[in-house]
Amino acid sequence: MGGSRCNCYPCGFFRDPGPSMDVLQLDVSGRPQAWITSKEAATLYASDAVAWTLGEPCQVLRGGTQRATGCQSRIEVHSIIAVRGAIPSRAWRQVPALSNPKLFHRDRDLCAYCGARFAFEELTREHIIPVSRGGVDSWMNCITACKACNGHKGNRLPEEARMSLLYLPYVPSLHEDMILRGRRILSDQMEFLLASVPRHSRLHA
Ligand SMILES: [Zn+2]
Repeated sequence: MGGSRCNCYPCGFFRDPGPSMDVLQLDVSGRPQAWITSKEAATLYASDAVAWTLGEPCQVLRGGTQRATGCQSRIEVHSIIAVRGAIPSRAWRQVPALSNPKLFHRDRDLCAYCGARFAFEELTREHIIPVSRGGVDSWMNCITACKACNGHKGNRLPEEARMSLLYLPYVPSLHEDMILRGRRILSDQMEFLLASVPRHSRLHA
């Protein structure tokens, strides 16, 4: 116990900094893993699990007073941190999970049939090939549609309904998925993620 470092992490007394930013967690090779809270990031710093960081420190968390030194623990949290540890080999091949918020975000909240922009509540996950006709629930078979267009198309293929897609579906990359999942993305985090998003992504549009 003790030592010269001021680090009271095991006590776990980090004060909640209030409405805080999310920290982008990477693996050691720089691949995005997750959005974590600054408190969770502080835990990684304190257990010496952070391999490297990007950008300037953007939040300082203060913990309890260390008995050995009388100092209050203090951890500077960066907006992007890379965490030590083995990299699961399947991470590259993983297809991001499909959800309505991410699907609508991918498609910029635009209905693929009428082209109008709608609020979240007015949008639906539309299966290009209907599930009842063998279509799967996947990024490539799903597109954003307004309730009216989805209802009009019903159980038909687009060509049967004489409705054409104004844009095409695609599978988001790992970096794009992190953007779609992010709630409050800081500019340096966005810059880092966008740099690896393929050109065909609508996020560049
Ligand atoms: Zn529509």
